[in-house]
Amino acid sequence: MQPLTNRVKDVDRRPMTIGEKIYLPAILKGMSITFSHMFKKKPTINFPEQNRPFSPVFRGLHVLNRDEEGRERCTACGLCAVACPAEAITMEAAERQPGEEHLYREEKYAARYEINMLRCIFCGLCEEACPKDAIYLSETFAPSNYARKSLIYGKNDLLIPDPKTEAADLAKAKGL
Ligand code: SF4
Ligand code: SF4
Repeated sequence: MQPLTNRVKDVDRRPMTIGEKIYLPAILKGMSITFSHMFKKKPTINFPEQNRPFSPVFRGLHVLNRDEEGRERCTACGLCAVACPAEAITMEAAERQPGEEHLYREEKYAARYEINMLRCIFCGLCEEACPKDAIYLSETFAPSNYARKSLIYGKNDLLIPDPKTEAADLAKAKGL
């Protein structure tokens, strides 16, 4: 029968030699390979104490952005949810009330904004679609969890700390 590839090898059915029967050469060969690795650079790192640098194009956990005055940028237009191929984003819009101008930049804001991290494929299309620079994918990732509900991130999980009232948290979030 014609083989599909040229990688086919005939099975070696010769009787084993004395050296092969006592396995000692094979054991020594295996040990020499193990020993040689002791002097090579370790490919593993001590995660989580050590972290590998991310690629410049890494797309991680989402952040809902604020403007320079600490106001939420999102205007609940829904473009990110429409652009999302995984249907991971849901939101509810609300009207900004008089006196709330210091909280929300636009007249409409997201009263509820959720991203299901179990659905998200971190494609970044929500960031591309946003006309308000209100959402971006950061250089962190969602920590693992045992409960599905904990991986549905709400506004409180996604909003970047307020530069006016939470300056220390903001610096920490930015890795400063
Ligand atoms: S990164 Fe992609 S999959 Fe995830 S929420 Fe944004 S658009 Fe949806
Ligand atoms: S994050 Fe951007 S695209 Fe999504 S609802 Fe808010 S303003 Fe619209």
